[in-house]
Amino acid sequence: MADPKGFLTTGREVATSRPVAERVKDWNEVYVPGSLLPIVSKQAGRCMDCGIPFCHNGCPLGNLIPEWNDYAYREDWNAAIERLHATNNFPEFTGRLCPAPCESACVLGINQPPVTIKNVEVSIIDKAWESGDVTPQPPERLSGKTVAVIGSGPSGLAAAQQLTRAGHTVVVYERADRIGGLLRYGIPEFKMEKSHINRRVEQMRAEGTKFRTGIEIGRDLDAAKLRRRYDAVVIAAGATVSRDLPVPGRELNGVHYAMEYLPLSNKVQEGDLTNSPITAKDKHVVVIGGGDTGADCVGTAHRQGALSVTQLEIMPRPGDERAEHQPWPTFPMLYKVTSAHEEGGERLYSVSTTHFEGDEDGNVQSLHLVEVEFKDGKIASLEGTERVIPAQLVTLAMGFTGTDQSNGLVEQFGLELDARGNVARDADFATNVPGVYVAGDAGRGQSLIVWAIAEGRSAARAVDGHLSGASDLPAPIRPTDRALVV
Ligand SMILES: Cc1cc2nc3c(=O)[nH]c(=O)nc-3n(C[C@H](O)[C@H](O)[C@H](O)COP(=O)(O)OP(=O)(O)OC[C@H]3O[C@@H](n4cnc5c(N)ncnc54)[C@H](O)[C@@H]3O)c2cc1C
Ligand code: SF4
Repeated sequence: MADPKGFLTTGREVATSRPVAERVKDWNEVYVPGSLLPIVSKQAGRCMDCGIPFCHNGCPLGNLIPEWNDYAYREDWNAAIERLHATNNFPEFTGRLCPAPCESACVLGINQPPVTIKNVEVSIIDKAWESGDVTPQPPERLSGKTVAVIGSGPSGLAAAQQLTRAGHTVVVYERADRIGGLLRYGIPEFKMEKSHINRRVEQMRAEGTKFRTGIEIGRDLDAAKLRRRYDAVVIAAGATVSRDLPVPGRELNGVHYAMEYLPLSNKVQEGDLTNSPITAKDKHVVVIGGGDTGADCVGTAHRQGALSVTQLEIMPRPGDERAEHQPWPTFPMLYKVTSAHEEGGERLYSVSTTHFEGDEDGNVQSLHLVEVEFKDGKIASLEGTERVIPAQLVTLAMGFTGTDQSNGLVEQFGLELDARGNVARDADFATNVPGVYVAGDAGRGQSLIVWAIAEGRSAARAVDGHLSGASDLPAPIRPTDRALVV
């Protein structure tokens, strides 16, 4: 414990965001560059190095938080990144995007604001990149075994990096034109600039991982043939099927899945398009769904010049404080004000969409909603609460229903699915097909980046054990783990 009085003498201070008026005019990350470094060591010094660090359990990766807090406090950045990389392949992703369940489990959080663990994490890795301390770690020997990884989101990348470093020859197949999964084409630039992915991919290439983009397994390459070509396969294909809203007017122009809307905006930022074919410019925008995906639509619509942005959520507004049934150290459902919400728009809770109305050209113009309440486990509409709101662009951000089955991947491998439509697996991430494993959202259902990385690492250990007879790779989790996270 570096500073025994740190938690008594220093208050919690987080990264400074750029002013709203400035940041909505560009797509760069919302934080003031370099604002963390002057404060981060003192913030890390608030860590109490508890006898039982509950933050370890809060973090699905089991990040060694008190250890790197100590090094960050002493400004020993070299040791800090060594400890951080010991459990997390990509702290620059989680340090920017993780909802930080570790902070909900921080012991200091029982009666004071918790340690800014996520900010310390991102500072350590940013500093490491800046100082040239993140270098390729190619294997000393090759095993002669080959692995195909299907999907290049955080779970596929984590599995590929671990298996490459263990000496196997790994090829990542990705149907999109660029590597990164939802990090690349779901999450907007203002939450994480894509240069962070590019830099990691370069490191992985230098280590020996091979990448094949624009190839959809099941459609462009038969899954069964792939199975024969490689000694093992990791399916990290995500849970990419969007949940629909089958109400009258759904077919109108201007009603889109969030994952039709967001990737186009990211493609503009990549320089592939001048303007997005689906834009919020000069439109009243309604986002249906109150989660992360919905918030990303809100922030994107602000930057595209929407006239108004309204976000609808069928559930009641979460509280500002922990509910009694979500005590410390669990991850509570709290009212969240994301950077996108700071930028404007209105949020309506306990409402349900009944239908959309359009003009004579078939373009959506308005959305009809009704207030709802939960009674005996069922949703009931409240009479007399119907309302109409203007809507020329509607995005559906109501979650995802499971693995994509339209491309033949599931059928050609002969994979069994679980009751929720995800690829079924055993305690070692193995599917019903020998030599075929599954990691991330494809097996878990739509989740978080930190879980995807943890699953990728754990599946890699199982694959390495299958190929080599035993494995020294770490396995932070089992498929059924929920840790302290909902
Ligand atoms: C808009 C949005 C915002 C989010 N924001 C956050 C956030 O802020 N923080 C957070 O923790 N989580 C967030 N999430 C969730 C997080 O992004 C996912 O949980 C995570 O990316 C899952 O990683 P994955 O590797 O399992 O799958 P994915 O990231 O979905 O990657 C799967 C990849 O597989 C590819 N693929 C699929 N089928 C095939 C095939 N047959 N052949 C080849 N390639 C294939 C896909 O193209 C995709 O690139 C967000 C999700 C969305 C949709
Ligand atoms: S990955 Fe997430 S849960 Fe783990 S230490 Fe970082 S912010 Fe916390």
